Amino acid sequence: MRRKRLLWQLYPSYLLITLVSLLAITLYSSRVIRRFHLEQTMTDLESRAHLIQEDIRERLVAGQPDRTDLLCKELGDKSSTRITVILPDGKVTGDTEKPPAEMDNHAGRPEIIEAMAGGTGSSVRFSHTLGQDVAYVAISVEDGDKIVGVVRTSIPLAAINRAMTDIYLRIAAGGLIVALLVAVVSMFVSRRISRPLEEIKRGAERFARGDLGHKLATTNCWEIAALAETLNRMVAQIEKLENVRRDFVANVSHELRTPITSIKGYVETLLDGAMHSPDDAQRFLQIITIQTNRLGAIIDDLLALSRIEQKAGNAEILLQRGRIKHVLEAAIDASQSKFLESNIQIECFCGQELEALINAPLLEQAVANLIDNACKYSPPGATVQIEASRTETEVIIRVKDHGCGIDQQHLPRIFERFYRVDKARSRKLGGTGLGLAIVKHIAEAHAGRVMVGSIPGRGSTFSICLPAV
Ligand code: ADP
Repeated sequence: MRRKRLLWQLYPSYLLITLVSLLAITLYSSRVIRRFHLEQTMTDLESRAHLIQEDIRERLVAGQPDRTDLLCKELGDKSSTRITVILPDGKVTGDTEKPPAEMDNHAGRPEIIEAMAGGTGSSVRFSHTLGQDVAYVAISVEDGDKIVGVVRTSIPLAAINRAMTDIYLRIAAGGLIVALLVAVVSMFVSRRISRPLEEIKRGAERFARGDLGHKLATTNCWEIAALAETLNRMVAQIEKLENVRRDFVANVSHELRTPITSIKGYVETLLDGAMHSPDDAQRFLQIITIQTNRLGAIIDDLLALSRIEQKAGNAEILLQRGRIKHVLEAAIDASQSKFLESNIQIECFCGQELEALINAPLLEQAVANLIDNACKYSPPGATVQIEASRTETEVIIRVKDHGCGIDQQHLPRIFERFYRVDKARSRKLGGTGLGLAIVKHIAEAHAGRVMVGSIPGRGSTFSICLPAV
């Protein structure tokens, strides 16, 4: 598709619309003026006919029709009007232009027929006598009830046309000035519309080049300002995501590096001779195994996270109506080794019938992660309660422990990847720092959310809230 600049789409259409309307108005007003002018001329001709009507009547009644010719010639010359006097039988007895004897019988002329019928006749037609278009008005001259003749006044249309040409020229000149004004103003208006868009385009190009620090200026046009603000917000979001990505890469590298450095150190120590001491070799290889398992755990969690993210992004996470109780029991089963190890009591409170739209394996993983944490951060012999209930709008699964708790300041960031309150402790407990991030992603994949409440020294409660069905 051929692309045209906005300016060249707006400007010609503005111009075309105004020029067409200008032309239409000019043509229409010219016609109106012409008609008005013609009507004016007709009334004028009629008044002139009335002015001489009396003189003509006197002569006709006196039986001196011949004397009307002189009058016609004299008055006609003075008033630039052709005056003709016609007798009831159609014979012309007086005319401004010609000797009456040379003229045809006028009984058949439309304006004469109308006047003879007792009124005013008018007609615009070609005159054979003058060889051009002429406007005629005729009135009857009466003596009592009897029509004794007709006075006709006429003027060539050329005179009207001359006047009209003058008016047309003025209208055309006015139109031309207006058209020029319109051309300038619509250029101005088009530019006013297209310029902010061009600025946004230039700004967007800067964004595309990677200059995310640039901000688009807003304008006073609502839609364009909204567009600029949306683009600015979008770029801020991209910037944020870019930072998250950068931090994430740095964090992952750092997290992987620690066990690798440790493994490398012990392997080198072994090669340097420690492998010849069976005790040292045994100890170091055990440490290497632990570090290798940590690497494996980090990578497993990372893969789990990215799978959830990817599937959620492609809307591939299938949600089905399912019983919450089954999910909780499966999660408890999966975490069994953890709580038996530290002698933790698990209590589960969940209605048999409680249901929600869930992806059972994912939700089970999320609850298991919470149970693992509750066990990890509770003293041996403590109790962990798992309960599920529903409100009007949500099904809430709570995992409540009576462990060390979390300081208020950490709560807002606790669900971030690799965020740990106490790094050394988490590592010692085999944590990857990704457990809660996975829980949050799973909750979001269910269109739900996560919450945490904690009192240091007393314990924490983690909640997964899912939309109720
Ligand atoms: P980790 O693998 O380190 O446990 P998580 O993402 O599961 O990573 O948790 C992040 C951090 O949140 C933990 O390092 C820990 O400091 C804190 N945390 C999580 N659960 C609890 C809990 N039940 N009690 C106290 N602190 C917790």
